[in-house]
Amino acid sequence: MCPGDISAITTAVQPSGPLADLVEDAKCTGTNQITDGPHDPNDEFYNEPLYTARAKIYPQHVTGTFRRVKWAVLFVTLGIYYFLPFVRWDRGPNAPNQAVLIDFPGRRFYFFFIEIWPQEVYYLTGLLILAAMTLFLMNAVAGRVWCGYLCPQTVWTDLFVTVERWIEGDRREHLLRDQQPWSFERAARAALKHFSWLMIAWWTGGAWVLYFADAPTLVKNLATFHAPFVAYAFIGILTFTTYTLAGWMREQVCVYMCPWPRIQAALTDEDALNVCYRYDRGEPRASLKKAAVLHEHGQPAGDCIDCLQCVHVCPTGVDIRGGPNLGCIQCGLCIDACDAVMTKIGRATRLITYDTDINIRQREQGKPTSFRIVRARTVLYAAIIALVGAVMTYALTTRRAEAVNVIHDRNPQFVRLSDGAIRNGYSVHILNKTLETQKFVLKVTGLSDVDVEVIGGERSPTGEPVIEVGPDQTRQVRVLVTTHQRLEPEASLPLTFIVTGDRAGTSASVADHFLGP
Ligand code: SF4
Ligand code: SF4
Repeated sequence: MCPGDISAITTAVQPSGPLADLVEDAKCTGTNQITDGPHDPNDEFYNEPLYTARAKIYPQHVTGTFRRVKWAVLFVTLGIYYFLPFVRWDRGPNAPNQAVLIDFPGRRFYFFFIEIWPQEVYYLTGLLILAAMTLFLMNAVAGRVWCGYLCPQTVWTDLFVTVERWIEGDRREHLLRDQQPWSFERAARAALKHFSWLMIAWWTGGAWVLYFADAPTLVKNLATFHAPFVAYAFIGILTFTTYTLAGWMREQVCVYMCPWPRIQAALTDEDALNVCYRYDRGEPRASLKKAAVLHEHGQPAGDCIDCLQCVHVCPTGVDIRGGPNLGCIQCGLCIDACDAVMTKIGRATRLITYDTDINIRQREQGKPTSFRIVRARTVLYAAIIALVGAVMTYALTTRRAEAVNVIHDRNPQFVRLSDGAIRNGYSVHILNKTLETQKFVLKVTGLSDVDVEVIGGERSPTGEPVIEVGPDQTRQVRVLVTTHQRLEPEASLPLTFIVTGDRAGTSASVADHFLGP
């Protein structure tokens, strides 16, 4: 049954109550799963198997606006992914000059002018919140626009399908060849295709590991087999996953494996743009010849000529005329295909188009359509993005190049010396995020008659403990704080540790306690 049949149902049955709502919903969505009574055991819908084997999809080449957008996104995203590790960024003599580097041995993440330390991993939390909110906002505005254009699975599958088309020919040629018995030519084409896919997959895995070490050096080491085993292992794993996911599994990842279609289906609303078939215009569908006959007999015929071009170009094999479908990644290629058909037969384009559920209903009622981008959820998502972005920008621009952390000894918490003085021990970590060696003077405030000693440390000419920390390094020292001050029983006095570097205006402090008997 097709959406055209739905109009027939609504005219003939004229249901009321909840059934009327179902019919209304189906009219909006174009689904055909409506009954007006006990279900027929012979009904195809109720007898569909729970599992059907995958039918291989041969997506047909298409040109048009959305295809061009997809090409642009593919070139930009893959260009960034493959070549970014080779971009250099001068940070001075004591730091790597790779613009984007995840330095596990040095425990740093470098992103152009930003350097994230392990203690600042909260930036990652901010980034994850930003990514989630951006995805939600995209979904609220234009449905699965992420899936259709930006998702790595979509981008790599698109690339693999393009290579396949170059080698095996477009849909018709490829279909015919697959039906023929194996020949030398068919085997050679298949071998070339899989070799090309493996090369792309191998380069994809290779590019990934380049983000974890100096890229030019690692390339040289990989080529001369001097790279660490883990680099070869990860290239192997990513070659296998890319080849399998983009070459073999393709749309099955989107339909069966990815959770996002289910999540976005719960998040979306009737104001979000989605790829829709305008059944109000297209139905009842009829070939050009059949439409002419229908018109002769004074019967209506819709704009859809049932040419199936929209289905043939679909990378997931969906017939969008059946209504919203979890398999539809909303890439817009069926819009391009249908527009080409409509242009050819001299009818208005956008029989398939990006539209909202509300607009479909409005059109049905002869009311004007509109698109509301400013709604509670888009404003909320945008506000959260702006807020988190502002907090992260503030934190990044005002972060200090020095930091100090202190851990009080757990056992013993204090020691009484032979002269009656009380001593507490601490582990002090000093972080020097600058790219020069710094000498930090350590002071402790909050106690009178106090002596501060750094084990193995030096002293300044004025007698204060001095700790040298190398460029872009952390140093841990053991510090003993001793006081002759008279303490109350079970005293716990607040202390402040202050470190002052030898660069102008560089200091950091942290609070702790001094414990007495
Ligand atoms: S139905 Fe159209 S928009 Fe959806 S995946 Fe297929 S081609 Fe893309
Ligand atoms: S491409 Fe357009 S005209 Fe052809 S079947 Fe699809 S919706 Fe109908």
